[in-house]
Amino acid sequence: MEFEFISPEKIVFGPGKVNESGALCEGLGRRALIVCDAYTLGSGLAERVAGILKAAGMESTIYSGVIPNPTAECVDEAGAVAMANDCDFVVGVGGGSSMDTAKGAAVSATHGGKIWPYAIGDKEITDSVLPIVAITTTSGTGSQCTCFAVISNHETKQKPGMGSPLILPKLAIVDPELMLSVPRQLTANTGFDVFTHAVEAYTSTAASAMSDMHAEKSLILLGGFLERCYKDGSDLEAREAIALADTCAGMAICNAVVTLPHVIAHVISGHFEEIPHGDALHSIYRASLKFNSRALPGKHRFIANAIDPGNNDVVSAFENYFSRFEFVNMLKNKLAEDPEAIDRLAEDTFTYMLGITELNPVKATLEDAKRILVESSK
Ligand code: NAD
Repeated sequence: MEFEFISPEKIVFGPGKVNESGALCEGLGRRALIVCDAYTLGSGLAERVAGILKAAGMESTIYSGVIPNPTAECVDEAGAVAMANDCDFVVGVGGGSSMDTAKGAAVSATHGGKIWPYAIGDKEITDSVLPIVAITTTSGTGSQCTCFAVISNHETKQKPGMGSPLILPKLAIVDPELMLSVPRQLTANTGFDVFTHAVEAYTSTAASAMSDMHAEKSLILLGGFLERCYKDGSDLEAREAIALADTCAGMAICNAVVTLPHVIAHVISGHFEEIPHGDALHSIYRASLKFNSRALPGKHRFIANAIDPGNNDVVSAFENYFSRFEFVNMLKNKLAEDPEAIDRLAEDTFTYMLGITELNPVKATLEDAKRILVESSK
């Protein structure tokens, strides 16, 4: 057996742990750029983190312009604020959009102010990246412990995942108390993202014994606790379990990456920027599982039993488990208005994220991608 496995330098997990962020950040820098969105600013969490850092002797500047599915412009704006204020480390506070903007800003600020060539892989990130701290407030993207930052470009309609071990956070803080405020629909969307990370890392051709261990733990926790979180957002035990599922799945994808369904979902949100990541994934997942489950029968049985004990068929287990949650499925309406989009979406699946498409357990063709989209539009 052989594997390599990378993860953040330190992961600190537990209710209330955000209060320790001052001591935990010591040694990372003198002035932080705190990166967040309007919600995290409005909730007072960004100021709270600034206060905790201040008490430990660190100054900070807050950038609160993060948008969902953040764009290269948003990242560069945050990077410019870091440069203008002489920030020497970056703290992303929020969901994946804020953590990814923080990662991007840590690169943009030290690589000439323009992130896009790095996001699309035309230029190599160097080790001048500012140290990154990720404080997650959703259980979905695992970004606090991944080496990816997903950055959109509305002009080119692309949404690549910028990947480099150099953007792994030095410190990830996972405080499940921060997730108690996540509303029902967001709990479903983000929880679904965790499920797909675990499934795709587990079935990727890059999977290893170590990434499998994290994916399996994540799937078992999801099967046991996601519905509880969804039904009662104040259930701290369930929030804790799903925060751990998210952290494990993040570490799994950091090493085994994702597969075809994620590429299609990124392409969808690249073309239709208003579709949230989790909702894009849910729209295409039944058809994707049906396509992929012809490979790796043992692993697909494990996935099925984790979410629907006693059921060995992953497609029906998926239907049984996720029919208990409501998803908006915005893709159906979009494709009803613009059926030709299917061709554009399928074609993009084999362009700027081809390296990830090729990790799929079943080799996929353009026609396969079209079939998945057509089936998902019904
Ligand atoms: P998000 O960060 O876009 O947040 C969605 C909404 O939830 C926002 O309005 C936000 O303000 C709100 N929110 C966040 N925390 C909250 C809380 N505790 N209580 C109430 N509301 C809260 O959503 P996300 O799903 O966490 O992140 C999605 C982004 O992450 C996408 O761009 C996706 O492509 C990317 N992503 C990144 C990785 C990675 O490894 N870097 C992996 C998967 C997805």
